[in-house]
Amino acid sequence: MVGREGGILGLYVHVPFCAAICNYCNFNRGLFDAGLKEQYVAAVIEEIRRAADGAHAPRLGSGDADTIFFGGGTPSLLEPAEIGGIIQACRDSFTVASDAEVTLEANPETATLERLAGFRAAGINRVSFGVQSFRDAELQRLSRLHSAARAEEAFGLARAAGFDNLSLDLMMWLPEQSVADWLASVDVLIALGPEHASLYLLEIYPNAPLKDAMARSRWSVAPDDDAAEMYLEAMTRLEAAGYEQYEISNVARPGRESRHNLKYWTDGEWLGFGPGAHSTRAGARWRNVSAIGDYIEAVRAGGRLVAERRILSRQDALEEALFTRLRLATGVDVGLVESQYGVDIWRQFGNRLQPYVEAGLLVYDGDRLRLTRPGMLLANEVMTVFIDTPVR
Ligand code: SF4
Repeated sequence: MVGREGGILGLYVHVPFCAAICNYCNFNRGLFDAGLKEQYVAAVIEEIRRAADGAHAPRLGSGDADTIFFGGGTPSLLEPAEIGGIIQACRDSFTVASDAEVTLEANPETATLERLAGFRAAGINRVSFGVQSFRDAELQRLSRLHSAARAEEAFGLARAAGFDNLSLDLMMWLPEQSVADWLASVDVLIALGPEHASLYLLEIYPNAPLKDAMARSRWSVAPDDDAAEMYLEAMTRLEAAGYEQYEISNVARPGRESRHNLKYWTDGEWLGFGPGAHSTRAGARWRNVSAIGDYIEAVRAGGRLVAERRILSRQDALEEALFTRLRLATGVDVGLVESQYGVDIWRQFGNRLQPYVEAGLLVYDGDRLRLTRPGMLLANEVMTVFIDTPVR
């Protein structure tokens, strides 16, 4: 067995519905349908209850959890009572810490004071809004349903509902977005003052409708150098405003890092529920069936929910631990990796890492290996060093 075992679990619930499908999205989601949603809620509650009986991953039992994360899709399309029912199923099936972080991903257009207060009463204590931009033209190009004003309003409503732990997502390198446009959105975010923010680079996948829209409308994205400036200047401004970068794409006020997402980046363990949800526990990784209908049917029939399951080899587990930990601002604890995987990283990969150190992209101080901020821009390139170099 490899990797960390027996840690405190994170619980992830995938909510696969959206009010409209954004033109750049390749997540596992479908259009909202009230009837299907009801069947889904019943199925996911049943799946959580079965997991505790060991049906999900035989003999693994239930266990302690300290995070619940509703991701999507658009989880805020569920009713507060439905979210409450799912949280209750988690609490009935797992020993969920009384101070657990319980996050709901929400889209601004779904926010009303009544709904947000309902989510809070149901047990949500952290809301992560998918804002993406505070500029209307950019939001329209992404076919998002909300406006910049609606996003600001949603943030205020969440505060009014009593949430003191809020996160906002922004996307950079959007079609037709200049460096100044991007920084204008960053400045609005800073002025609002969420506890946490995620800044992602828009990736346009090959079949995305956005790709056609860009060709039709002759939209382009800024040159690579501008994308680098967007990232670096945003981080500088966020730091000046009191945020700490703790991961390539994530900043937080001290102590407000996403506890749930840190499990993904620190070799933690989690169980995922809902269509397409991934789980990792005790050296195994598995994924549920993706299609909503197949998922509901499999739960109803008491059939097999897992579409794919594999035991992580020592090589897989090490590569993944290095990839994910290197994403963190604190980098990789070399001694910890050696004690967990029996591999001296510098002895194993040092020759190939040295050029990145010399180029100022990587720092190795004998204890930790970490990317510099310019190195974070080229993280994928640096990480190729760890792929397919057999572990000795
Ligand atoms: S709201 Fe999010 S999950 Fe839904 S279609 Fe848009 S990008 Fe995809």
